[in-house]
Amino acid sequence: MKANASTLGSAQIIDGKATALAIREELKVSAKRLTELGAKPGLAVVLVGEDPASQVYVRNKDRAAEAAGFDVHTIRLPEETTQAKLLAEIHSLNDNPDVHGILVQLPLPKGGDLNERETVRAISPDKDVDGLHPENVARLVMGERGFVPCTPAGCIELLDRYEIPIEGKHAVVIGRSMLVGKPIAQLLLARNATVSMCHSRTADLASMCRQADIIVAAVGVAGLVRGDWIQPGAAVLDVGINRGEDGKLCGDVVFDEVRQRAGALTPVPGGVGPMTIAMLLRNTAISAARAAGVEL
Ligand code: NAD
Repeated sequence: MKANASTLGSAQIIDGKATALAIREELKVSAKRLTELGAKPGLAVVLVGEDPASQVYVRNKDRAAEAAGFDVHTIRLPEETTQAKLLAEIHSLNDNPDVHGILVQLPLPKGGDLNERETVRAISPDKDVDGLHPENVARLVMGERGFVPCTPAGCIELLDRYEIPIEGKHAVVIGRSMLVGKPIAQLLLARNATVSMCHSRTADLASMCRQADIIVAAVGVAGLVRGDWIQPGAAVLDVGINRGEDGKLCGDVVFDEVRQRAGALTPVPGGVGPMTIAMLLRNTAISAARAAGVEL
């Protein structure tokens, strides 16, 4: 799926939905092989409370994991769960050899004594398939084997599968969150891109973007990245998920403008979004393979 980076007015649309489906098919094969080796991948998803959006996310993750042939352990805890009870659940999952990946759906309910940082730290780094444990953050920065957060991993996978070169390129990352901006910057750096981190206090975002070969927009502001910010042929990954004025889902990028100049562009929906679950499953399969002492 080589991107055509030279034609103006016709960015290649990066199909994250199709790419994610292809990865999930590949993972079915891996899961079958691991199951034959006695290491069927097991994903534990912990959901505290009744938040409707979280319930949808958890259901989607469960279904995707089951469809790929993984074991799914869904732990639903009531809104009033205490931190001690939540930690006890996590410790028991850490000790369960059938569980290779543990995910606690965030945000946790407010009002009680639940503490997200402490909760993430309680997950064994070797089962932290969301890549949020400080140990995994450190491993990413140090170039050591660990788990990489799923959305940033999905961005790199899209660039690779569309054969968009990273090494030596100037990548501009907009957004500096722990979930997306910082890890994607580290991943691009590890692949020998020259990385500029931009954020809400960046003085002239437009001129930074005009120097970019790769732009990753991870902000959460609809209509932020305009067509005239784009160097002709640049690859643009739109991570943002927003509701436009028309009520429809949209990213951070003005799609119809940017596609006129970019070489490749992810749509919203159907771009980076579907890759997140695919990478969660891949991290879980990797964890199962490591536990079994085999290569995926
Ligand atoms: P966040 O709110 O934690 O971080 C947003 C970042 O954007 C901050 O670092 C801030 O400095 C920067 N920012 C804010 N306003 C800016 C501006 N005007 N110009 C430049 N930078 C600005 O958000 P997040 O968790 O990193 O998520 C970012 C977006 O990505 C959101 O829309 C979120 O819904 C989406 N997201 C999508 C996926 C997925 O596709 N699966 C996963 C995670 C997040």
